[in-house]
Amino acid sequence: MDEKVETYSSVFLTCLSVALYLRHNLTKTALSHHLDILKVAMSASYKELTSPHNLLAKYENLKTRVKKIFVCPKPKCSTILIVKDGKPEENQPCGHKYIAKQSNNCYVLQLPIEEQLVYFNKHRGLTKAVPCDPNVRSDVYSGELYGKLRTEGKIDDFTITLQANADGAKPFVVTKYSFWPFLGIVNEAKYKLRRNFVILMVLWYGNESHLLKPSWDGQSTN
Ligand SMILES: [Zn+2]
Repeated sequence: MDEKVETYSSVFLTCLSVALYLRHNLTKTALSHHLDILKVAMSASYKELTSPHNLLAKYENLKTRVKKIFVCPKPKCSTILIVKDGKPEENQPCGHKYIAKQSNNCYVLQLPIEEQLVYFNKHRGLTKAVPCDPNVRSDVYSGELYGKLRTEGKIDDFTITLQANADGAKPFVVTKYSFWPFLGIVNEAKYKLRRNFVILMVLWYGNESHLLKPSWDGQSTN
């Protein structure tokens, strides 16, 4: 059973302060003043809250490479848009014009899978995929497909495989636009770890009608 650890609401202050800084594009000076106000209200002193530098240093390791791919917002068109200076150009190869002030943005955020897997292995650990007796216990690596890929040499002891899952959430009730996270479950992790920690591979925002294609096409161009 997981051990319960008592925490205080103040432990969230660093995370909330960084969220405020990013959400409102605060300057470092504004962030510094925000931290000054926190200091007045707090009885204890946290090093991370003493300056913007110390606060942001806490999250330095989370800086990562995220690739943003714009997709044509027209329903049933899944063309990846040509981008110049970070914005889609007006004339696109599919023939649909992208008008900056009128067109909805549909995009795919690709997160670095390799970095996440290295982090996962370092902090959670992987187990060797020992084929188990399918009559005794069923698992991904006792399954027929996994066994076939091993026999064919496509999977060995150094291979990490992922199960992909997707689940969407609408930001507003009256919209066709949704966020869809594409999650990866690490097959070679212990069952409990597999359930508790997932890899975020792709985050899609756009029209549901052409959800899948650009997410995976874009991945292959990475
Ligand atoms: Zn189009």
